[in-house]
Amino acid sequence: MARITSAITLVACHDCDLLHRLPSLKEGEVACCLRCGAVLARRRSDPVVRCAALTLSALLLFVIVNFFPLLGLNLGGRETSMTLLEGALELGGHGMWDVVALVFFTSWMFPLLHFLVLLYVLFPLALGRVVPGALTMFKAAGLFSPWGMIGVYMLGVFVAIVKLADLATVIPGMAVYALGGLLVCSTAAGHALDHDAVWKQIGRTKG
Ligand SMILES: [Zn+2]
Repeated sequence: MARITSAITLVACHDCDLLHRLPSLKEGEVACCLRCGAVLARRRSDPVVRCAALTLSALLLFVIVNFFPLLGLNLGGRETSMTLLEGALELGGHGMWDVVALVFFTSWMFPLLHFLVLLYVLFPLALGRVVPGALTMFKAAGLFSPWGMIGVYMLGVFVAIVKLADLATVIPGMAVYALGGLLVCSTAAGHALDHDAVWKQIGRTKG
């Protein structure tokens, strides 16, 4: 099999599908579509360090979300509180194991794997090193990302707070605030992640 030694960077506009030959961008520069003006590529300053820092913040908030109370209920003077996983397991006690599995995979396992895999690749890369299996792991992070649905879970929590407010006194726990911060950090990390820059840095450092 012949080995490809060079490539031209072509990119299709995600709004109008016009194909462009992407120029080499300097730090802070943005390439826009000739036809509709949509942003095709953006060269961010320090994309690896910023994304790694935001991902680490998201991971720390993720720990708080899972180990601190999510909601407390005060009903007739009797107070109870529950963590995210305890709430999911409570559903299992009512036979709703399919919902438990859905919550476990989309709000716990896939987001956690996404954060850990990204940190495994990005932190050494920020120090100029490439860890073994970096290419495979970075691809895996892209596969886990769409299955993490923390935003949907947060929406569910707010609906529960509104619905339960008529029946009992609802006390939002620390995990609710951490969940909001987690959503902001994970979205900002996704925005800061420059895939092209990471691929190039992995390739360059591998030599
Ligand atoms: Zn366009």
